[in-house]
Amino acid sequence: PATLGLPGTDALRARASTALRHCGAAGLDAYPEQDPGTGATVAARTPLTGAVLAHLPATTPEQAEAALADAHRTFLAWRTVPAPVRGALVKRLGELLTAHQEDLADLVTLEAGKIRSEALGEVREMIDICDFAVGLSRQLYGRTIAGERPGHRLSESWHPLGVAGVISAFNFPVAVWSWNAAIALVCGDPVVWKPSELAPLTALACTALLARAAADTGAPPGVHHLLLGGPEHGELLADDPRVALVSATGSVRMGRQVAPRVAARFGRCLLELGGNNAAVVTPSADLDLTVRGVVFAAAGTAGQRCTTLRRLIVHEDLADRLVERIAHAYAQLPIGDPYHPDTLVGPLIGTAAHTAMTEALTEARRAGGTVLVGGDRHFADEAPDAAYVRPALVRMPAQTGIVATETFAPILYVLTYRTLDEAIALQNGVPQGLSSSIFTRDQREAERFLAADGSDCGIANVNIGTSGAEIGGAFGGEKETGGGRESGSDAWRAYMRRATNTVNYSADLPLAQGVNFL
Ligand code: NAD
Repeated sequence: PATLGLPGTDALRARASTALRHCGAAGLDAYPEQDPGTGATVAARTPLTGAVLAHLPATTPEQAEAALADAHRTFLAWRTVPAPVRGALVKRLGELLTAHQEDLADLVTLEAGKIRSEALGEVREMIDICDFAVGLSRQLYGRTIAGERPGHRLSESWHPLGVAGVISAFNFPVAVWSWNAAIALVCGDPVVWKPSELAPLTALACTALLARAAADTGAPPGVHHLLLGGPEHGELLADDPRVALVSATGSVRMGRQVAPRVAARFGRCLLELGGNNAAVVTPSADLDLTVRGVVFAAAGTAGQRCTTLRRLIVHEDLADRLVERIAHAYAQLPIGDPYHPDTLVGPLIGTAAHTAMTEALTEARRAGGTVLVGGDRHFADEAPDAAYVRPALVRMPAQTGIVATETFAPILYVLTYRTLDEAIALQNGVPQGLSSSIFTRDQREAERFLAADGSDCGIANVNIGTSGAEIGGAFGGEKETGGGRESGSDAWRAYMRRATNTVNYSADLPLAQGVNFL
């Protein structure tokens, strides 16, 4: 469309209030529209227009201290509740999330700018992880190990770890919380959540739903606390010895600040940081499938996923053909109001993201790159405080510094290769190691990409893009992505402590390693 036709601020505020109230939280009329100037506040801003919908009071230091003390007190009781009973809380949470999918999706669109199907998909992911966690609550298995001494039994037990501090990013405002909260709660860990200061409303809605789930199932209210505020509230979690695990999702810059603070007190850190994800396209690739996979992975969510495809490494024989098709698809992408059913690309989180995108494109040109399509801003007159942009496709002569950098905006750099070794070296030749793909119909190439000397990422896919992981697998990446794993598989172990138990049921006392003493 030539114009956005977005609703005004009052209509957006009403939409937020309705969704919040449905979820059991206060509507926005509970908060001032103007900054009261009486203390720290968090502005609830929508990227749809850039308007501030309300000023929420930030959590005060006294409130934060009370929350941490209560979470720790709750841990001492919650850890002795049988895990399947803890699972009942998460089961109820999953039911409430299911009943409020539309409300939560409304808020995700309003705060993160996601199109409807992606916002609903994010909420679907929350429901799925609750299902997973409920099953897990009966499967927190340890091992029995073959010991070396007669009359002895050697085994492992997994116990609750302590309070889990969750720091989350704006771009998955609710899914990342649920990955952590659902698993932490069944593992016996109360959660203290520091959401992104760019997404406080979704956090209020989730907190209200979890409070209701706790009330409905008789779980203590202290299993969940919310800290609203900026980085300094995250630092409270990083520094507090009562927080046994700090699970932090966000930029590499944030991880560099958080990790040493947690390490200084020997706390446990689970880091989910930035990605710079690549897909290799080989001569045998199914091009129709590749184009669809690439365009969704690179332009979906307006390029604001940690797993967004940012580098396309194409065999030189098909590069021109493939690039032409992707450029054609990019030129057609409907950009605009994410609530509109036809829109595929909503706004960036703010105008600063567009500035970063423009600077990256300038740098790419300076390094010899050619911007084939995109990068231009739309609807700037109608929504001057918002950033609607066409995703950019850039042909690069080499993997220069800007290509090796995660710019959190929709830019896809295209590089070419001649041999598979060269392609894998390019894929691995960046500091980040989150997600990767190969598009090929050649089994040797696919297996090589997945092998020990293939992709060095935490996620390696074949004939599917880099984004859109299922919750059943462990999610996370290597190198500057931080090494953490969340969500499915055995990622739950990060939320528990392992105890190795040796029981002597004999009348003798044989010492390990054959030692004689007394
Ligand atoms: P960000 O780093 O600006 O903020 C993330 C969170 O960290 C926010 O809650 C913020 O308040 C907090 N924070 C910032 N500095 C802090 C500090 N010094 N101490 C404690 N907390 C601090 O990231 P963002 O812009 O919200 O999100 C985008 C980034 O997140 C991208 O780099 C993206 O790749 C990454 N991300 C990674 C994953 C993953 O699973 N690997 C998932 C989503 C997003």
